[in-house]
Amino acid sequence: MATKGFGAPQQPKKPRDKVPKDASTACVCGSGKAYQDCCRHYHDGTRFAPDPVALLRSRYSAYAYRLPDYIMATTHPDHEDYKPAKDKAGAKAWQQSLLNFCDAYTFQGLQPGALELEDDGAVAFLNFTAKVNALSQRLQFVERSKFLCGGDGRWLYVSGDADFTPEVLLESGQFADEDQP
Ligand SMILES: [Zn+2]
Repeated sequence: MATKGFGAPQQPKKPRDKVPKDASTACVCGSGKAYQDCCRHYHDGTRFAPDPVALLRSRYSAYAYRLPDYIMATTHPDHEDYKPAKDKAGAKAWQQSLLNFCDAYTFQGLQPGALELEDDGAVAFLNFTAKVNALSQRLQFVERSKFLCGGDGRWLYVSGDADFTPEVLLESGQFADEDQP
């Protein structure tokens, strides 16, 4: 019954991420920059994303790289999913739901639209198109996101804009084995 025990995983404190081992790899956010020159600064906490576009890109790459804590840290308390860290059970459930999302898709690309600033630059709206693949379908969705800039100059994601009707485009049949007549 005894095993040598090597490779027996310790219970990790943080979820296993998918950050590129070679940080000179192109960042998945689509900026064209290497990860080490792009979203890594924000993911490792050495810098705040300086504007909503950088925040959107870094949240997208955090989904792709399985970094739920970053997504949680950059979500505004007004967001419907938000749970403060002191709500340990709530925060853990939120983290798990983010991990489930990360694991259900592969992330194929992000196209931010034009940035719209309001209220002297403290509120931002940003349309974007994100491409993700699920196991059996390709999914592309369009969202209009709202961001708020706090007094410390730090941007947080608040919500999808309720007045915006998202399109969900399914390219069905691309992966199916269909009998041709
Ligand atoms: Zn990036």
